[in-house]
Amino acid sequence: MKNLVKCDVQRCKGCYVCISHCPKGCLTIDSSINSQGYVPVSTVSEADCIGCGMCVLSCPEPFALKVIKENKDRVCKSA
Ligand code: SF4
Ligand code: SF4
Repeated sequence: MKNLVKCDVQRCKGCYVCISHCPKGCLTIDSSINSQGYVPVSTVSEADCIGCGMCVLSCPEPFALKVIKENKDRVCKSA
C-alpha cells in the first residue's frame, strides 16, 4: 500500500497552501468546481507521496485533507 492523500472536495476552499507546502509535488489544482464554487485540490502523484503530512498541517480547512500512511494504519487529518 502506498501513502494515500485524499481531499474532501466539498470542504476545500481552493487556497492551494497545501500545494505550495508539498515537498514532492504530489498535489495540483483539479479541473472541477465544488458546490461552494471553489476549484479544489487533487492528487496527481500518490506514488511520490512520502506521508510527511505537510499538506494536512498547512491546510486551514478542517478535515479537508487526509493522509493514510503506508503500512502504518495511521491517518493524518486536518482538524
Ligand atoms: S490547503 Fe486545504 S483548503 Fe487550501 S487548497 Fe489545500 S485542501 Fe483546499
Ligand atoms: S503527505 Fe507530504 S508528500 Fe504527501 S501529499 Fe502531503 S505534503 Fe505531499
